[in-house]
Amino acid sequence: MDVIILGSGSPLPDPARAGPSTLVRTATGDMLFDCGRGVLMRAAAVASGAAMFRAVFLTHLHSDHITDLNDIVTMRWVMSFEPNPLAVFGPVGTSSLLEATEAMLEPDIGYRLAHHADLTWRPVARVTEVGTGVVFDEGGVRVTAAPTDHSPVRPTVGFRIEEGRRSVVIAGDTVPCTGLDELCRGADVLVHTVVRRDLIERVGLPRLTDVLDYHSSVPDAARTASRNGVRTLVLTHLVPAPAPGTEQEWLDQAAAHFDGEVVLAADLLALDVTG
Ligand SMILES: [Zn+2]
Repeated sequence: MDVIILGSGSPLPDPARAGPSTLVRTATGDMLFDCGRGVLMRAAAVASGAAMFRAVFLTHLHSDHITDLNDIVTMRWVMSFEPNPLAVFGPVGTSSLLEATEAMLEPDIGYRLAHHADLTWRPVARVTEVGTGVVFDEGGVRVTAAPTDHSPVRPTVGFRIEEGRRSVVIAGDTVPCTGLDELCRGADVLVHTVVRRDLIERVGLPRLTDVLDYHSSVPDAARTASRNGVRTLVLTHLVPAPAPGTEQEWLDQAAAHFDGEVVLAADLLALDVTG
């Protein structure tokens, strides 16, 4: 199993960081977790793409985590040569999101159906709204969901992916909570979105300080990893984006609360979790 950070950025556009998205490459196929800005550009860099995703998992419906869902729907449809339903797993509200996405694409769907004689079907999504428990179990790959706490954004979920003896947790956006703790217990890798409380408080802009109450700071994420015996903590969705030369500060803030390996995400960072 490989974990590839496709996008390590946040809602703020960044020339070097795509929006939040992580690819977990398993024997059963490529599983995509969230689909922020630029996801398919980054997926192309690792020979993946919309037509190949075994499933797409959404942690929550905040715009920065779903910006490019419409691109995935369209590209899967036009780059498949037979109907190729897109499996989507996400919190309650995901079915409506897919319906709304298809409605948004309606003019384009009409153009392409009229133009391509061999394209005789519409985009198809198979949505499963998830809360707690095993949501996917196929070919030795199991995905478990649990509720997280990103209040007032509700509902939100995190995911644990297990293949053989290895496990990876995708936290999504959340403050420390029991649902996340349960997913993280003994995990090899925890991919956790984080914000830098110290830097955001220093800026003091209300629109920015608002984000502090529903995200984990770097120490918060480190304490979650430590409390649950995680082996490797990957910090992603970096707010604000690390200024060049400040990367070590992020690692140090985590290392003060966690003895395991800490990795600061960059786009296309890959971790081999096999063995
Ligand atoms: Zn969010």
